[in-house]
Amino acid sequence: MTWSQAVAEGPLGDAHAQLAAAVGHLGYDDGTHQMLATPRREMQVAVPLRREDGSTAVYSGYRVQHNFSRGPAKGGLRFAPNVDLDEVRALAMWMTWKCALLDVPYGGAKGGVAIDPRAHTTLELERVTRRYTSEILPIIGPEVDIPAPDMGTNEQTMAWIMDTYSAAMGHTVPGVVTGKPIALGGSLGRAAATSRGVAHIALLAMEAQGFKASHASAAVQGFGKVGRDAARFLDDAGVAVRAVSDIDGAVFNKEGLDIFALAKHVDATGTVVGFEGSEPIDPAELLTLDVDVLVPAALEGVLTGANAGAVQARIVVEGANGPTTKEADQILTDRGVLMVPDILANAGGVVVSYFEWVQANMAFQWSEQEVNSRLKERMTKAWRDVVAFAGDRSLTYREAATILAVQRVTEAHRLRGLYP
Ligand code: NAD
Repeated sequence: MTWSQAVAEGPLGDAHAQLAAAVGHLGYDDGTHQMLATPRREMQVAVPLRREDGSTAVYSGYRVQHNFSRGPAKGGLRFAPNVDLDEVRALAMWMTWKCALLDVPYGGAKGGVAIDPRAHTTLELERVTRRYTSEILPIIGPEVDIPAPDMGTNEQTMAWIMDTYSAAMGHTVPGVVTGKPIALGGSLGRAAATSRGVAHIALLAMEAQGFKASHASAAVQGFGKVGRDAARFLDDAGVAVRAVSDIDGAVFNKEGLDIFALAKHVDATGTVVGFEGSEPIDPAELLTLDVDVLVPAALEGVLTGANAGAVQARIVVEGANGPTTKEADQILTDRGVLMVPDILANAGGVVVSYFEWVQANMAFQWSEQEVNSRLKERMTKAWRDVVAFAGDRSLTYREAATILAVQRVTEAHRLRGLYP
């Protein structure tokens, strides 16, 4: 009997379709496909919270470890109201491919708590983080699974996880998380690493397409940990960042936004909305603006069959994980838009997470310059690998990146063999 995969909707359906295409290209058998498609370990926990007003709420928490053939599982922790198990499964699978593509010695994982962080006080978020950590404690650790920040979490969240885990172990364990504050063993350059990588890859893509950065324009969806610094690095490189958005709205300036001033405005007000050097636009319009490069850096599934036909950008650099649905990917590719996939474009975060873990394990700190230059080297190599592999076989960059990663994970599977 041949194995047939349950059909999933949303990001998990997209992730499964990408894997199936890679497996088809590589000619792997059903058993190998099933091994690659199936998460190795999943944990769903209830996270009860005593709120500051004395009431109690219970949230759902998840940790999915998709694969550990190449090393400990690695992936972010997301706090967002709509997180569910399937979304976390998709994100965990993408982490496996991302780590393999960048050749860092990790498998893939992801975590989530279905909570709106904006609706909670800092103390409540600390309680949720610590309770979630204690629930998943048996399956995390520096050699097991290493969480990092993702949407709705930050370096403070990582500090609480590290402290909770360390308290249970009876000694300080900095290697259990990455994306920590510098004062606790975080790596210099980690905070901006994902964005630095996104901008670096965007500039390589522009160069490959014959765009001069100083004459190019961009739009960035999301102004959080990824979007904000990606906009800053593009601006620094001379690209006119015409529009950015966040959950509250979008702002536009045809000549290019002053990203430095905009960041100060966001620090003061908490949103891009109302920035003086801009005019407001409909956030949905940002995705179809007349710009050279579009960087979706917020949510998954924002480029869809409904809006892909109207996208004017010539290059899409996926800062977010899974921002393009399968249908949109096909439409955009058919229209000749260069799609730079998430597992390549936003891998800078996990690369410097790896550097942070190495530094924690060595109890030694590298300079920021060393971190940034090693990051650039790794990102450039991955870019070249993908471009060469795609070119030789007439594949899209997404297909090439996924195939390269799947091949590496399968090789590790085969070498290790199946126990017993
Ligand atoms: P974040 O929470 O720091 O920021 C998210 C941003 O998106 C915020 O500006 C928020 O206002 C905005 N946003 C939310 N809903 C929106 C909407 N409907 N429309 C427009 N903007 C909206 O999260 P982040 O860490 O920047 O993550 C963003 C994406 O990048 C996610 O897909 C995440 O998985 C991916 N990613 C993050 C990292 C990392 O190191 N943080 C690494 C790789 C990939």
